[in-house]
This record gives sequence, C-alpha cells and structure tokens, in this order.
Amino acid sequence: MQRLFGTNGVRGVANEDLSPELALKLGKAIGSFVQGNIILATDTRSSNEMIKDAVIAGLLSTGCNVFDAKIAPSPALQYYVKNSDADAGIIITASHNPPEFNGIKVIDNEGMELSRNKEKEIEKIFFNERFVKVAWNEIGKVYDIDILDFYIEGILSLANTEKIKERNYKVVVDCGNGAACFVMPYLINEVAEVITLNAQPDGNFPGRMPEPSIENIEHLMKTVKSLEADLGIAYDGDADRAIFVDENGNYVYGDKSLAAIAGYILEKRRGKIVTPVSTSSCVEEYVKAKGGEVIYTKVGAPIVARKMKEIDAIFGGEENGGLIFPQHQYCRDSGMASIAMLEMLAIKDKKLSEIVKEIPHYFLVKSKIECENKKEVMEKLKEEIKGEIDYTDGIKVYFEDGWVLIRPSGTEPIIRIYAESKDKKKAENLVEKYKNLIQRLL
Ligand code: MG
Repeated sequence: MQRLFGTNGVRGVANEDLSPELALKLGKAIGSFVQGNIILATDTRSSNEMIKDAVIAGLLSTGCNVFDAKIAPSPALQYYVKNSDADAGIIITASHNPPEFNGIKVIDNEGMELSRNKEKEIEKIFFNERFVKVAWNEIGKVYDIDILDFYIEGILSLANTEKIKERNYKVVVDCGNGAACFVMPYLINEVAEVITLNAQPDGNFPGRMPEPSIENIEHLMKTVKSLEADLGIAYDGDADRAIFVDENGNYVYGDKSLAAIAGYILEKRRGKIVTPVSTSSCVEEYVKAKGGEVIYTKVGAPIVARKMKEIDAIFGGEENGGLIFPQHQYCRDSGMASIAMLEMLAIKDKKLSEIVKEIPHYFLVKSKIECENKKEVMEKLKEEIKGEIDYTDGIKVYFEDGWVLIRPSGTEPIIRIYAESKDKKKAENLVEKYKNLIQRLL
C-alpha cells in the first residue's frame, strides 16, 4: 500500500507536490471517511486559498459540512474541535517549513492528530478512489466560524491571571507573520504589556522564516534587551510551538523551557512527565530533583500526546518548544505555554534567566550519515552495540556521563546520530566514535 501521510500529515511544495488536484482528492477521501461536520483552519501561507478551496470542494462533494475558521493557530483549532461536537478538523499548514511549502493535517474529534490507523483508512479510500458521492441536493455547506476567543478564554481560565497582572510584565511577542498574529498579542495583552514584532500576517514571511531558531529570531532577542522587557516569545508558522527569550535577550532552548515548566508544575503536583528519547537529560535530572518521573517515547508530538493521555501524565513536550498541557488539551499548545511561562515567573517571582540557571546544562552534538539501507545497518548496530541500551526509538546507549542516540530518519535516506554530555569534548568524541562504527557497517 502506498503511503500518503508523512510524520506531519501531507506536506510538500505548493502547486508542485501539493497540487490542487491532490488537495481535491484528499478532501474527497477525508470527507468519505469522516462523513460529518469538519472545522477547517489555515496558517498565513500564500498558497492557502488554492489548497483550502480544493479541499473544501472535495469535502462538500461527500456531503460533509465545513466550518471555516479562517486563519488560526493549530492549537486553537484543536481546542475547538475537542470541545465542540465537530467530527474532525483539518489544518492547512506547513508549520515551520519555508514559504513555498504547505500541508494538510487531519485532527480527530478529540482534537488530537489522527492516529496512524485512521490515516491508513483515508489512504485506502484515496488510492482506491472509493469516494462517497452525494446527490446534488445533499452537497455540503460552508459556514463561517470564529474560534479564537474561545481558545483565549480557555487558556485564561486555567491560569492565575491576577498574579501575572500584579507584576506588570513587558513581553515582546514575535508572531513571525504566521497564525500567531491573530491570537497571541491579544492573549498576552490580557495579562501583560505587549510589544509585537512581525505581527502582520504575510505568507512571504518578510520578517523572519517560520522556524523560531536562534538564527531566525535575533531581532526578537535584541528587542527584548533594548526595551528591557521581561520576556520574549517567538512562534512557528502555525503557532503550536513557542520559544522563549529571557530578560537579557538570551535564547532559551526548548529543552530548558520544557524542564522549567515541568519543574514548576511538579512543585504544585507530583506526577509523570512525558518526552521523546531525543530530549536532553537536563529535563530528567531537573524533574527527578523536583520529585517527578520522566517517561520516554518515540520521537513525534502526537506520540507524546497519546502516551500522556494513556498514563495520565501531568505535563509533556518536545525540545523544539512544543509543550503539552493535559488540563487544556493533548496537543502542542503555544498559547497555553506562553501563559504558563508568565504564571511561573509571577508565582516564583524570579527572572527567567535565574530559573534557567537552576537547570543542568548538557552539550548536544548532532550529526548524520547518508545511508540507503537504513534498516539493515540498524540491525547490525543492534548486534554491535552493548551496554545499557534503550530501544524505544532507534538505539540509545547510556554512559556514566551522557548518551548516544542513533535513529534512522523517517523520510530521508539518513541515519541521525545525537550525543549528549556535560563535557562538550566528550559529546563530540561520542558522535565521532559512532559515526565511524556506522561507516564500517555500511
Ligand atoms: Mg508547528
């Protein structure tokens, strides 16, 4: 069976891999599978209207009704789907990818990314072209819908907003010309003074590229420092991830913000924290010190979210700024992350840099090797590598003062190698050592 959905839904260059013909056919397949009411949102990409209109045409032809939420952050759509009687959601977005990309992601009626099994059913309909086709008088209808206030109110209802307001924080919000523009400045304005950067929606992303990497958000870092703000926040294109900048204008890596907020939540309530095996040990060390436990999963936000639900975890997330708050919903949620961060600063009455300083620091070194026969090489590696090993996702070998993770890429002919240690040289040496071993096995 051919595969259509990748790890991030269907994604590709607009009008090339992701053509209107494909979008129409996918709309028909999704509509045939769901047969109900579907809420649809997009980020700010230039190709959105072409893809959205094609998807909608497909959905309507199967008799589904479409509720058009227009531009909205992914977590706002997911929150609405979860709390309404909608049967599914669709997000047109390529998240952090460059402007020429776009994508189609399907959300189940609980607001979570569709499970692989359900994706397979849609793929079966798509490739066999077994679409539902209704009569002319049963064609679905499109309704406009506004979901943004519902998302903002849901977040504020879960936070100690009075405590945050008392501190009179100044926050610089970098919306990256993406879906964050329509929500985050308004959300944060409810509890703090807001200064915005790149808050005009623009699919060419003139302010910065949609990935909130350290290279891309230098302007935010400088602005936080020069305006003497308390915090900076940058979002990715569909605003499910948030990256923070401390009061000195320093970039706070996602594993540190994950650890910080996990620690804060654990101070209120004991419980389990879920994160993928690729996450820095700084999270586990900090969580253990706060009396919590870390549960590791395979890499991928939907996998983390499902595990959290299964074991009733109190918090979880990824090292890229994707944080998941189960009391709100089981998906990456940058609006909730923003308010939780402000609440943590307010309740602890500390600067973000002070909290980050409490978290142990590890050096992570990443590398990759081109490899056509990934499966075979991984099998050989399993025989070669001895010691304390975790096979949750690829091979993770633990040492006294660090670890190495070897994983085949899900989409490319590449094997990735990550090594982490408190000693930078040691991490570099570990990567070299295992790179050489893989080269020998190729
Ligand atoms: Mg994203």
